[in-house]
Amino acid sequence: MSTPRYKLLTPGPLTTTATVKQAMLVDHCTWDDDYKSITRDIRRRLLAIAGVAPASPADPGTYTTVLLQGSGTYGVEAVLSSVVAETDLLLICANGAYGERMVEICRWNAIPHVVVRTAHNSVPSADAVEAAFADHPGITHVAMVHCETTTGILNEVAPISAVTRAHGATFILDAMSSFGAVPIDLTGWGIDYLISSANKCLQGVPGFVFVIARTAALVATEHIARSLSLNLYAQWQAMEADGKWRFTSPTQVVLAFAQALAEFVEEGGVAVRGARYAENQRVLTAGMSALGFRPWLDRAVQSPIITTFGYPEGVAVDFADMYGWIKERGYAIYPGKLTEADTFRIGSIGEVDADDMRAVCGIVGDYLRERAGSVGGGDAVEVGQPQLG
Ligand SMILES: *Cc1c(COP(=O)(O)O)cnc(C)c1O
Repeated sequence: MSTPRYKLLTPGPLTTTATVKQAMLVDHCTWDDDYKSITRDIRRRLLAIAGVAPASPADPGTYTTVLLQGSGTYGVEAVLSSVVAETDLLLICANGAYGERMVEICRWNAIPHVVVRTAHNSVPSADAVEAAFADHPGITHVAMVHCETTTGILNEVAPISAVTRAHGATFILDAMSSFGAVPIDLTGWGIDYLISSANKCLQGVPGFVFVIARTAALVATEHIARSLSLNLYAQWQAMEADGKWRFTSPTQVVLAFAQALAEFVEEGGVAVRGARYAENQRVLTAGMSALGFRPWLDRAVQSPIITTFGYPEGVAVDFADMYGWIKERGYAIYPGKLTEADTFRIGSIGEVDADDMRAVCGIVGDYLRERAGSVGGGDAVEVGQPQLG
């Protein structure tokens, strides 16, 4: 069997380091102290990255972490179904597929909810949330997505969480694709539950999610969960006792994540990783724009995580054909996720740098010159810009 060799410009799974992959070449048991201490250490380090580590061993701290098997959606579903009671009302701010996924989770779990929808290219506003509180005085929880990976838009959290707090409601943030690269002020913004995953900006491999929860909020949720395996409170209680996961944990993934966290700290933490991704995004956008691909979002709301591009004017590009061409040359890109526009996406996160961005722009440029003219029988393409990469 030949293993394909290409880098992922997809925001999860993403390209990981060789050392993260090597950490998985071990069969580790799960019941002994060795393993429990790895879990405890991961939980501690996550609090430190979030800027909410206890001041001393005697300090119980304001926040705690829960690790849970599964992909990001499992984490979102675990939180929504474990903390919003039948008698509560959840407000969901949605401006993309991941906001809509929260709505779907609520339908499956019969979670009372209302939705404030915003266009895919604009951020949810505090005014709209304020109006929702006026229309629905029963709102007890508000949930939103930080970076909507659907488009790459970076939603503003602080104004929404401020309104939430002013109404005494609980605030839930899907920070799946932003945690570790975009600064998040848990305490200042008043975040009660933050959900993220091992396989996004912390550059681990897929297999588990983590929830950073305000302990005082979490302890009050003991009897709310709607399922056994996604019971956030029970998962926390089990892990809190001695570091053991409640059910079989993805051992190799956990080992890889411990290594990924060490490398994250070594790189310089949130600021340095975020700066690398931002530079990737900048180089990518400059290169793609020079080829005629237009970034779909306004710069002001564009995250450093993933960029949505529209095709150059008058060029017929078949995405599948372009995707195959690029992949053969070393990179996997992402299809678009919009119904209102013909777009595709390129991620700028993972173990990739500005040279990778120049390289992929060069490959796309070659594609336009050598292939796109004939795809769909369009005219020959004039690129007219310097060769990139
Ligand atoms: C990746 C991601 C998720 C989780 O998706 P999975 O397919 O379950 O991994 C949720 N929200 C956002 C914003 C994401 O980027």
